[in-house]
Amino acid sequence: MSAAPFDCDVLVIGGGPAGSTIATLLAMQGRVVRLLEKDAHPRFHIGESLLPANVRLLEELGVREQIERIGMRKFGIEFVSPQHEHHAFFDFADVWDHNPGLSMAWQVRRSEFDQILFRRAGEVGVQASEGWRVTRVEFDADGAWAHCMHGEQASKLRARFVVDASGRDTLLASQFDLKRRNPIHNSAALFGHFRNAERLGGRLEGNISIFWFAHGWFWFIPLADGTTSVGAVCWPYYLKSREKPLPEFFADTLALAPKLAARLRGAELVDGRVYATGNYSYAAASSSADRYLMVGDAYAFVDPVFSSGVYLAMASAFAALPVVQATLDAGPAAAAAERRRFDAHMRKGPREFTWFIVRMTNPAMRRLFMYSSNMLRSKEAVLGLLAGDIFGKTPIWRALRCFKGMYYLTSLLILPRAWKAWREHRVSIRDVGETKGENVLVQRR
Ligand SMILES: Cc1cc2nc3c(=O)[nH]c(=O)nc-3n(C[C@H](O)[C@H](O)[C@H](O)COP(=O)(O)OP(=O)(O)OC[C@H]3O[C@@H](n4cnc5c(N)ncnc54)[C@H](O)[C@@H]3O)c2cc1C
Repeated sequence: MSAAPFDCDVLVIGGGPAGSTIATLLAMQGRVVRLLEKDAHPRFHIGESLLPANVRLLEELGVREQIERIGMRKFGIEFVSPQHEHHAFFDFADVWDHNPGLSMAWQVRRSEFDQILFRRAGEVGVQASEGWRVTRVEFDADGAWAHCMHGEQASKLRARFVVDASGRDTLLASQFDLKRRNPIHNSAALFGHFRNAERLGGRLEGNISIFWFAHGWFWFIPLADGTTSVGAVCWPYYLKSREKPLPEFFADTLALAPKLAARLRGAELVDGRVYATGNYSYAAASSSADRYLMVGDAYAFVDPVFSSGVYLAMASAFAALPVVQATLDAGPAAAAAERRRFDAHMRKGPREFTWFIVRMTNPAMRRLFMYSSNMLRSKEAVLGLLAGDIFGKTPIWRALRCFKGMYYLTSLLILPRAWKAWREHRVSIRDVGETKGENVLVQRR
C-alpha cells in the first residue's frame, strides 16, 4: 500500500479557520495541498468574536479587506456584574505600550468568515473540496492513507503528511484515544441571535459584553447585519437540569440576568431558533506524531469567555508550518526540534487563558475586573492577554504575575466568599455525563 503514489503533500482535514489557514500557508509555499471539509460553506458555526491579534494573521493570509467588509468593529469589552451598579469597560487602545496593531478586532458571522478563509485557500492553489468527510487515517513510515466518504462514495487518499483541523470532532485525538477531559474546567452553552437588541452607543456599539449570572456568564456580540448573538455559558449540570424545550429554557435563563434581559426587552429571536452545545473542555495528550499534527480545536478547547478560540486556532496553523515543512523536506527525525516548539506553543495558549477562565466566576476575579487598576501595568498586561498578544515578545508576564498576586490578595480579603465560590466551582464542573454530546442541538419556538 505504501508504494502507491501520493495524491498530495499534505492532507488537511477540516475547512474551519485552522484548516483553511494552514492549507493556504502551505500552498503559498508551493506545497500540493488537499483540504477536505465535510460540510458545505457557508455553514453555521458559533464563535463570532475575534481578538485584535487575529488582524495581523488575516493580513498575512491576504483577506483583511474582505473580513473588514463583513465585520463589526470591536474596540473593547464591557463587563456587567449583578453585584455592581456600574459597568466596567476595557478598551484595546490601552493595551501594553498602546500597540496600534492591537487596537481593534471584528465580530463576524462565522458562516461568512469561514467561507472567505476556505475560498482563499482555493485561490492560492489548494484543492479544496466540500462534502468530503474523513472517517479514519492509517499511518505508515512514509505517509498516510485517509479513508473518506463523499456522499455515499468511499475512497482513500494518500498523503505524505496529515493536518487534523477537524475542530471539536477531534478526529485523530479520538481515533488514537488521546482526548482528555479538562480536570479543572467544564462548561456548556445555549445561544441564539436577536433582532433589535439594545446595543451600546457610538464607538462602543461593536464591543462584546460579558454578563455574569448565577450559573456562569453570558456573551452579547453585536454583528454587522444588526443582529446580536447572545449566549449563556453555564455549568453542564445546569444545562442538564433542563425539563423544558430549549427556547423556553433559554428565556428563563436570560431572565436570571436582569441587566441583559433589559437590553433584550424589545428584541426577537431570529427564526425562534436556540442552540445548545454539550460539555466542551478538553485537550489531546500530544499535539503531533511523525506524520501528523493537530491544530485548533482538534487539539484543545477550554471555554469561550475570552473569545480566544479562533485566534488560537489560526495561530496554531502558523506555528505548525515549520513542522510540516521540516518533515516534508528532511523527514520526521529532522523535524523533532520543530515538533517540540510546536507542542510548547499548543500548550501555552490554553494554559495562559485557563488560569483566568477557571477563576472567572470567582468574586475576587469579578472585583478585579469591575474595579480594574493599572498598578505595575497589570491592566495593560491583562488587556494584552485579552487581545491575544501572548506568543510574541511583548513583556506582559511580570505584570500578569502582579495581577495574579492581586487576585490572591483579594481572595484573602474576602476569604469566606472566595472559598465558597471555589468550592462551588469544584462541584459545578463535575462530570454529569453527556449533556447533549459534542454536537449542536437546535430547537425552534
Ligand atoms: C459556545 C461557543 C462559543 C464560542 N465563542 C467564540 C468566540 O466568540 N470567539 C472565538 O474566537 N471562539 C469562540 N469559540 C471557539 C471557536 O468556535 C473555535 O475555537 C474555532 O471555531 C476553532 O476553529 P477550528 O478551525 O479549529 O475548528 P472548527 O471551526 O470547528 O472547524 C472544523 C471544521 O472541520 C470540519 N470537519 C470536522 N470533522 C471532519 C471530518 N472528519 N472530515 C472533514 N471535515 C471535518 C467541520 O465541519 C468544520 O468545518 C466558541 C466556541 C463555543 C463552543
